[in-house]
Amino acid sequence: MRWYRIRARRTFEVAQTAGVCWGVDRAIRGIRGAARGKERSRVPQVLGWLIHDQNSIRQLEKDGIRTIESPEEATTEVIAITAHGRDPKDIRRLQEQGFKVLDMTCPIVTNQHAEALKLKESGRKIILVGTREPHPEVLGTRGVLDDEAIVVDSPFGAQLITLHPETPIGVIAQTTHDPVVVDEVLWELKRRFRDVLYVPTACGDIALKLEEIREKAQKADTIIVISEERSANGNNLARVARAMQKTVIFILDETKLERAMIAQARRIFITAAASKFERDIDGVAAKLKSWGWRRRQPRGPVMTKEERAKMSARQAAGH
Ligand code: SF4
Repeated sequence: MRWYRIRARRTFEVAQTAGVCWGVDRAIRGIRGAARGKERSRVPQVLGWLIHDQNSIRQLEKDGIRTIESPEEATTEVIAITAHGRDPKDIRRLQEQGFKVLDMTCPIVTNQHAEALKLKESGRKIILVGTREPHPEVLGTRGVLDDEAIVVDSPFGAQLITLHPETPIGVIAQTTHDPVVVDEVLWELKRRFRDVLYVPTACGDIALKLEEIREKAQKADTIIVISEERSANGNNLARVARAMQKTVIFILDETKLERAMIAQARRIFITAAASKFERDIDGVAAKLKSWGWRRRQPRGPVMTKEERAKMSARQAAGH
């Protein structure tokens, strides 16, 4: 008698919220629009990475839009500010040096700056919940607050604050920080301080990405996070996946995915940071298919990219 071994077909699912957000899309379109048809001296150059994705930065370079690390490197009269926003003192300095400034800050970040400033002007000591290692958005928001905010990234960080318990506290969060972690920090602050006022500024798109991974990746054994290493929201997705006890594969794009990485996997959930465009997500999906993996359609209500973009535009408009 012959025995046949039946192997269950290996499957993967791509998160509905995976990939590029409204603010990143807006920044890329904005800079391309500003560069179109301009003579070289008026094509904007970007101070820092416009968005956290080296593939997109490389593509912009090919199209003649350079990334520079400091204004001294500029060979144009127009300097663009990245989607993460910037310290207003830096912007003033650029203007004083004679540059025209093209502000590509995501309006959701601009709103957060305005809220942070209002809180500070109300006389509160500001706690900024965000990434502690230098991140452009955190540096920009700190700059708005004259570098006086205390940055904490976790409840443990909140425990280390040495202010008097009677100090009025204002809390604001990096737009891409995990709302669950922000709640934990708030709980700790409210335990330690008598008067704590929190103004929520979390980006809805990021909150949806994190919700989706928590809800829909439960049955997966492996989670692929497509992200640039320096992306705060990509790292958030990976942290949540690790907390769910999943095997996490953190890759820039399909060129980094190797068969050996998924040799033990049976069911994969793929998500991607807010700076990753479809080409990289589709590339990973196509590679898995070429290795015999079957794509599962997402369960539950579908939120399209257009609906997410509308939601973010409403948030940016303050609704
Ligand atoms: S705040 Fe949200 S929409 Fe704006 S750039 Fe960041 S992730 Fe994208």
